[in-house]
Amino acid sequence: MADNKVRVRFAPSPTGGLHLGGVRTVLFNYLFAKKHGGEFILRIEDTDQNRYVEGAEAYILNCLQWCGLTPDESPVVGGPYSPYRQSERKPLYREYAEKLVAEGHAYYAFDTPEELEQKRKDVPNFQYGHGHRYDMRNSLNLPLHEVEQLLHNGTPHVIRIKMPEDDSISFKDMIRGYVSFETNQVDDKVLLKADGMPTYHLAVVVDDYLMKITHALRGEEWLPSAPVHLLLWEYLGWKDSMPQWAHLPLILKPDGHGKLSKRDGARLGFPVYAMNWEDKKTGELTPGFRELGFLPEAFLNLLAMLGWNDGTDQEVFSLDELVEKFSMERVSKAGAKFDFEKAKWFNAEWIKRLSVEGLKPYVAQVFADKGVTVSDDAKLLKVIELVKDRCVLLTDFYTQGAYFFEQPAEYDINAVKPKWTDAKTDFFNELKAKYTTADAWQAADLETQFKEFTTEKGFKIGDVMLPFRIMLVGGKFGPHVFDIAEMLGKDETVVRIEKALEAFTA
Ligand code: GLU
Repeated sequence: MADNKVRVRFAPSPTGGLHLGGVRTVLFNYLFAKKHGGEFILRIEDTDQNRYVEGAEAYILNCLQWCGLTPDESPVVGGPYSPYRQSERKPLYREYAEKLVAEGHAYYAFDTPEELEQKRKDVPNFQYGHGHRYDMRNSLNLPLHEVEQLLHNGTPHVIRIKMPEDDSISFKDMIRGYVSFETNQVDDKVLLKADGMPTYHLAVVVDDYLMKITHALRGEEWLPSAPVHLLLWEYLGWKDSMPQWAHLPLILKPDGHGKLSKRDGARLGFPVYAMNWEDKKTGELTPGFRELGFLPEAFLNLLAMLGWNDGTDQEVFSLDELVEKFSMERVSKAGAKFDFEKAKWFNAEWIKRLSVEGLKPYVAQVFADKGVTVSDDAKLLKVIELVKDRCVLLTDFYTQGAYFFEQPAEYDINAVKPKWTDAKTDFFNELKAKYTTADAWQAADLETQFKEFTTEKGFKIGDVMLPFRIMLVGGKFGPHVFDIAEMLGKDETVVRIEKALEAFTA
């Protein structure tokens, strides 16, 4: 190859939400490219008009943006090999399909959908391939003049690859080593459809060639298509430019039995998509990691560990570290079990790792989504600092921190009511008066005052501390209660004691 700059691509079909396996494919491509100073290309494979879903491309772009995996070339930023949307490249594919026909590697097939349907009914496990291609209406069987006439009349037809018979094809996968296929097992895939659109098989090869892709990392589910692609590279005379392929291991269900599907997520109660995806036709909403409260750093980190490790015990990696440490040699062949508890662990780690400033935009968004107004930036930063070690998901900042910005909507009344006494009512009324006239409002002073007053009134600290917490927070959780009071400020603390007393004594 003339210039050997690494060029990889993510080539999704815009058919719906993006499965976490898809994002892992993006990540590994990105890591490989950046590790080698190469380029990462996003190409939209939208030639299957029946499966095209409105909004899916924008969704994919949003996902990449959220994760910070920015393509160097894409339908949005363009690049030297524009357009990057296959539907816009439609006119260029026919030439290659015709060349294959002319050279005897492909043929025209005129079978109507009804005829194919009938054949499938008549022949169990029908494959349009070496066993049956000579029973069909195609240019391999029909006399030349008839084929010409059919073409001349504009008879709808497709172009199919002619798989060689009784042969085997092999290639060296970067992860799996040598993989080989019996050609008789593979059917004569359609390359160009009746509407003139290429199928994925033709388009992927033509575009990988034209876009000078050097390495193609894709999911293991594409392995069965590899023999067709290999032959196309060979038949089109481009074998020397063929990218090196790597078929990434599957992401498995938590029990290891089979590929993790969208349905498993719904069944087991965790997201499988990167971001929320709404099916406009059915209105069905498939939840995503982002909306559940995952940080992009954590999401990428957990995906990196699904099928890769650096050979040490290290598990927490930033994107920069991953770029530095990633190597294809350490990607495993075996499928990787998805473990949601572990996924949450990564998120908690990343919440701890990020600075309060770094967390601020995410947390502000969580509060905004919940309708909590946060006008004081400095206060938000302090709240984040106080509660971040207790949060596993970003949405936990709401449960752990909303009470700093608004009074508790309800109290854990069962935790106080059974042990409530008039003496406690007196205690808190007097505490309120004391706090109202307090000069200083520092956690340490408030604590000293509270403890002295507790002793003076003959209470044990446990008798009054928990009710005090519930007055301020609403429940039995949160950081040190006097830190909370300090943050709330004098007026708000006093108001909360008063309001809670009404509820406790009602
Ligand atoms: N368009 C294929 C997909 O939807 C791309 C597969 C490949 O990378 O070759 O995943």
